[in-house]
Amino acid sequence: TGSRKFFVGGNFKCNGNKSSLQTLIESIIKSTLPASEIVDIVVSPPSIYLEYVNQLVGQRVQVAAQNCYSETKGAYTGEISAEMIVDIGLKWVILGHSERRNLFKESNQLIAKKTQHALSQGLSVIFCIGELLEQRETNKTEQVLDEQLGFLLNGVVSDWSKVVIAYEPVWAIGTGKTASPQQAQDAHAFIRKWLSEKVSKEVANATRILYGGSVTATNSAELSKQLDVDGFLVGGASLVASDFVTIINTAN
Ligand code: PEP
Repeated sequence: TGSRKFFVGGNFKCNGNKSSLQTLIESIIKSTLPASEIVDIVVSPPSIYLEYVNQLVGQRVQVAAQNCYSETKGAYTGEISAEMIVDIGLKWVILGHSERRNLFKESNQLIAKKTQHALSQGLSVIFCIGELLEQRETNKTEQVLDEQLGFLLNGVVSDWSKVVIAYEPVWAIGTGKTASPQQAQDAHAFIRKWLSEKVSKEVANATRILYGGSVTATNSAELSKQLDVDGFLVGGASLVASDFVTIINTAN
């Protein structure tokens, strides 16, 4: 980690209920956590529990939606809008998660449209990218990241201070296979170089790049030592309060 403020997100995915989420959030917020100047902490429950969880988190922890649509309102059954997320008092949305891309076939174009619209409504976006196993094995990782990031250009991002990039190699998500600290660093350095060349040096320097993919309480310390790893997006381990808190405390 460099000079950027650390960031740890907990993506609960499609897990939890009122009772388990209450227990989880209460355990997290009563734990010893680094000061807010040291680390941003954001949890992301299923959309049906966003407001419920937001009432439980208090001041230290923020809440993100896991997805939203690209339009304000209308005949889009099953979707929620950025405006609705703002309306219930939230500031964050995750977009482009690999499960949205791969299971729900969201295209780069749609994710870009969602990103542009969410930013236009004042939301901050955790923008997820990452290569498939087959792409890594055929040495296409940088090409894939370049392509996915390219959809942020041409006016999609109005304010880079509202974007956090999550590098999540798809082969590492929910598989128990973590990228090695060097693999993570190499991808993060590539992303930072991309930002420097395609956006600006200032943006490259200031943008948080998170690693995601089977981050645990045991491997987070080593990963967090990498120069360009500015935090984590955590799936499975964020459902276990003590593990998530350990990961958050690697910010220290
Ligand atoms: C994720 O969903 O963003 C993720 C990284 O999941 P996991 O930590 O379970 O691999």
